[in-house]
Amino acid sequence: GSPGAGKGTQAKRIAARYGIPQISTGDLLRENVQRSTELGVQARDVMARGELVSDSLVCDMVKDRLRQQDCERGFILDGFPRTPAQAGWLDAFLEHEFFDKSRAGKCRPIVILIDVDYNQLLLRLTGRRTCLANGHIYNVHFQPPREDEVCDLDGSKLVIRNDDREEVIRERLTAYEQQTRPVAEYYHHQGRLFAVNGSLPVDTVTDEVFREIESHVGTA
Ligand code: AMP
Repeated sequence: GSPGAGKGTQAKRIAARYGIPQISTGDLLRENVQRSTELGVQARDVMARGELVSDSLVCDMVKDRLRQQDCERGFILDGFPRTPAQAGWLDAFLEHEFFDKSRAGKCRPIVILIDVDYNQLLLRLTGRRTCLANGHIYNVHFQPPREDEVCDLDGSKLVIRNDDREEVIRERLTAYEQQTRPVAEYYHHQGRLFAVNGSLPVDTVTDEVFREIESHVGTA
């Protein structure tokens, strides 16, 4: 899904329901930027412009993360793959390394596209506020916190993500249309894409996503 489609929100719910880690490449990159790691230093300016970080940097980061033990039972990738090259890399990684013969057979990922129209996305992105302490996401237009700019859950101050500013948002939506939309086509051609209408209420989207995942359990 595009930036603002609700990937983070839905991914957190999936992670909680199935007891698997949520792996958000955006969050991992932001952590690296905050800690000024080598990767963070390389990614910072690209992210600030709303462009995509290079495939090789992101794939290496995902590879390290997927090799951690908590991924053995499964995982939800959020914001990855974002280019056809990343999708090809992921297929090869899963095929040759992750689901090897010593494990309980191969497993093809379920791919979910959350579809939302452009104007709705702009409102979502410009209204988004994030709690840095717990990652909870609000929207001043649709899901405002009880008290302005303060997290309902822990009272932390809410922040606007650096790349949720209007000029950067346009760049991110362009990157989505040009580089990530073809990923949906890649999976669609393989008959692996499940699209949900992300403009529906958030709980309805969650129900549809769960239904799709559970209809694939054991057959994926
Ligand atoms: P997100 O939080 O998913 O919107 O990601 C924020 C920013 O991180 C993006 O605008 C990109 O600059 C970078 N990013 C996140 N995931 C990827 C990815 N899979 N490939 C390249 N860049 C990414």
